[in-house]
Amino acid sequence: MNRPRSIVILTGAGISAESGIDTFRAGANGGPSLWEQHRVEDVATPEAFARDPDLVLRFYDMRRAAIQTKEPNAAHRALARLEREWAGPVTVVTQNVDDLHERGGSHAVIHMHGEHLSAWCTACDVRTRWTGALIDRPACPACGARALRPDIVWFGEIPYRMDAIQTLLADADLFVSIGTSGAVYPAAGFVRLARELGAQTLELNLERSQGSAWFDQTRLGPASEIVTAWVDELLG
Ligand code: NAD
Repeated sequence: MNRPRSIVILTGAGISAESGIDTFRAGANGGPSLWEQHRVEDVATPEAFARDPDLVLRFYDMRRAAIQTKEPNAAHRALARLEREWAGPVTVVTQNVDDLHERGGSHAVIHMHGEHLSAWCTACDVRTRWTGALIDRPACPACGARALRPDIVWFGEIPYRMDAIQTLLADADLFVSIGTSGAVYPAAGFVRLARELGAQTLELNLERSQGSAWFDQTRLGPASEIVTAWVDELLG
């Protein structure tokens, strides 16, 4: 590849897999999609929250507690090193709701699907950093209402900061996708957009993703190995 200037990196659950955080399993042969043994429709949709808020709050309370016991892996740290040492801008657009990019040392991170460590007050619209549980309906620190929900973009909701992401993709010289199955839109469409707007495209994944054909190049293997090797190569 020619030496690129501006790099945009889309990450998915696969980059956190080696830190011990489960990926999302798309249903095979018409079977249900599962996340931590739950059907996605039961825990990750606004309808599920309206139907059974306790189930949804408990599920996210467990996930929020679990991620705080996990550590970033070599792939997260390699991307932080790239941000520090690369001459041009490096931005991570992540579908992940964990905070392992930040704890790995990255600063330019966009959480397009929200964050486990944030609570969103549906009464006053203020977001608050949140590390504890929501099941007991704690009061919102900003307005006092007991109307906090996980600050997660559920299936059927609109991802965050799409305008900023589109601008980044338009300016990108290199678009890299790491550890994502290419099954969840709009993120799955970023490669086509970036490519049409002139970026080179690279996929780093354990196996070929659904949109693999759109990438100029694909490298397969565990993220901790192939992301580290790719960053070493770029930084020379
Ligand atoms: P996905 O689970 O659909 O796909 C994960 C991909 O990562 C697969 O293609 C798999 O082959 C690959 N993979 C697995 N282990 C890997 C490894 N060690 N190295 C490299 N690649 C590996 O994930 P997705 O595409 O991100 O979509 C899932 C949705 O669920 C997202 O919207 C996300 O918000 C949510 N989710 C987030 C987390 C998290 O925050 N860590 C975890 C699970 C699900």
